[in-house]
Amino acid sequence: MSDQRTELEKLGEFGLIDHLTKDFVNQNPSTTFGIGDDAAVISISDDDAKLISTDMLIEGVHFNLMYMPLKHLGYKAVAVNISDICAMNGTAEQITVSIAVSNRFPVEALEELYDGIRTACSIYNVDLIGGDTTSSLSGLSISITVIGSAKKKDITYRSGAKENDLLVATGDLGAAYMGLQILEREKVVYSTNPEIQPDLDGHDYIIERQLKPEARKDIILFLKELELKPTSMIDISDGLASEIMHLCKSSKVGCHVYDEKIPIDAKTSMTALDFNLDPSTCALNGGEDYELLFTVPQSDFEKVKGNPHMSIIGHITNEADGIYFIDKSGSAIELQAQGWNHLND
Ligand code: ADP
Ligand code: MG
Repeated sequence: MSDQRTELEKLGEFGLIDHLTKDFVNQNPSTTFGIGDDAAVISISDDDAKLISTDMLIEGVHFNLMYMPLKHLGYKAVAVNISDICAMNGTAEQITVSIAVSNRFPVEALEELYDGIRTACSIYNVDLIGGDTTSSLSGLSISITVIGSAKKKDITYRSGAKENDLLVATGDLGAAYMGLQILEREKVVYSTNPEIQPDLDGHDYIIERQLKPEARKDIILFLKELELKPTSMIDISDGLASEIMHLCKSSKVGCHVYDEKIPIDAKTSMTALDFNLDPSTCALNGGEDYELLFTVPQSDFEKVKGNPHMSIIGHITNEADGIYFIDKSGSAIELQAQGWNHLND
């Protein structure tokens, strides 16, 4: 280590990962794909591969136990990992769970956490096969590794999008972010006056999207039924804008995304407007929707069109054409991924 000191913000999360890992060269032929997608791909036979992904959640950074019940936290920690396996078009099969916990937590609290983990294991059909338990000086951290499997020919990488492909988002976006805004608002009200009960009425949908997100395993099954293999895919964990940038950069393409096509639930829009926020901005820059973003060739238009779970939000262009957001007035704005340089996930 030299005397030089470089602040983390200078590199940002993705710059830091690149910087730290750039001198590593894979040495094993079984490492089909290492760093740079939603999961790593390990070859186990001519036709089959294992998929592996890890995510860590830290108290105070990724969750606040004032409004996040431990059971939900356990469920969410599993679901967000499975989402990365879905993004590779694979099937999650096992998880390991590692926790660091301070003596602030009684056994009963950890039982709650594991109750949520068990529920998710049962719903997503995955097995808990190990982990690690250690103490922390303060707070709770959870790190989950998920292992999945896929036929090599079915795996979808971030890098496969081709010019003229259609860009498709599943479900609706921005709801988890607005759910978080409601929870944060009520937390502030509660901390100033504990007599006031939180007013969460009418916000069930967006709060559930924040506290209990689901991995879109159903979409993976749909794609199979439709005999539709996306040319590229990523899960929407950091906000649509950031994921579009990842997909376009990995695929070396540009794209046009249309504001009016972005799927936003009416409840999300209404809450955003109450907060004086633009609903599209919440979908673009909010996070934690855990929907899927994928590309398909134009020839698959009929398979996607009219599917209530899928919205065609744009199309892929040449890399040199850039990444553009077309707003409701038809103006093209170069897409900026907010959070791109935020080291918080
Ligand atoms: P996702 O948002 O899908 O979970 P990330 O943005 O966290 O993916 O990570 C991007 C890529 O960088 C992944 O391939 C991940 O495994 C890898 N990665 C993240 N952090 C590290 C690290 N500290 N060391 C090595 N690889 C890392
Ligand atoms: Mg991901």
